[in-house]
Amino acid sequence: MTLGRFAPSPTGLLHLGNLRTALASWLSARASGGRWILRMEDVDGPRCHRDLGEAQVRDLAALGLESDEPVAWQSGRSAHYREALICLHEAERIYPCTCTRKDLRVLASAPHPEDGLRAYPGRCRARPWAGFEQALRLRLPEGTVAWGDRLLGTQEDDPALLTGDPLLFRRDGCFAYHLAVVVDDGAQAVTEVVRGADLRSVTATQIRLQEALGLPRPAYAHLGLVRAPNGSRLGKRAGALGLEALGARGITPETCLGWLGWSLGCLDRPEPCGAGELIPAFDWARVPRRDLPLPEAWI
Ligand code: GLU
Repeated sequence: MTLGRFAPSPTGLLHLGNLRTALASWLSARASGGRWILRMEDVDGPRCHRDLGEAQVRDLAALGLESDEPVAWQSGRSAHYREALICLHEAERIYPCTCTRKDLRVLASAPHPEDGLRAYPGRCRARPWAGFEQALRLRLPEGTVAWGDRLLGTQEDDPALLTGDPLLFRRDGCFAYHLAVVVDDGAQAVTEVVRGADLRSVTATQIRLQEALGLPRPAYAHLGLVRAPNGSRLGKRAGALGLEALGARGITPETCLGWLGWSLGCLDRPEPCGAGELIPAFDWARVPRRDLPLPEAWI
């Protein structure tokens, strides 16, 4: 049975792009008779706020998207992340990294023959284990990773070029995004990950981490983004409108659902409707791959 999830970070209110991803993950799970859960990714301490997470849960509920299980908050799951790191240490898959921000900046600006970009080149790979006193990175095996994306088809990436050995634990005691996502998808037995196309490039790295932890691989779908009229990405923190602000302009949750459902290929026209009415029409084959602009009248 499908278990889908939506996993926002509570760093702002959900904008239309986030709501579209949430709806697609819910519809995909429901259309196959499956379950759907909501997870709050609040590991990144200062940027995350409980009240924003609660507002996100409320906005999703206003659209009819309610978690089948109590909402999991990652900030309460540190023991699981620590346990996963110990397993990785025992399997000799992680190493401490003492690079400072400055070191990383220098490494990133050095001309790398293959790519370089922001990928960590493994400078600390030979360092001996020093417990949880230092940052920890996953030792990536060589080679590309291929996976089937429900929307984009077969994808293939070399995580060494995209992220390099990913950071799993920060020296300040915070667990990193990759670790929390992979551990929780595994612990919650998630079978389908639907998220924005901006996260497509982390998939190969996360698959490598699943492999290192012996976790099953979920199916993936990376959705096009909703963009502002000038083409820029909507940002939760860049003042993109949430459901309440849309409501203040007379745009009801049903109107919103109609537009979102239309944008996902479930309706011929954006007409007000309830989330449940969209389920029978949902089909990944009809979901457009491209990014799409916000409706002009809602700006
Ligand atoms: N928490 C991430 C975000 O809000 C999404 C993680 C995921 O879906 O894998 O961008």
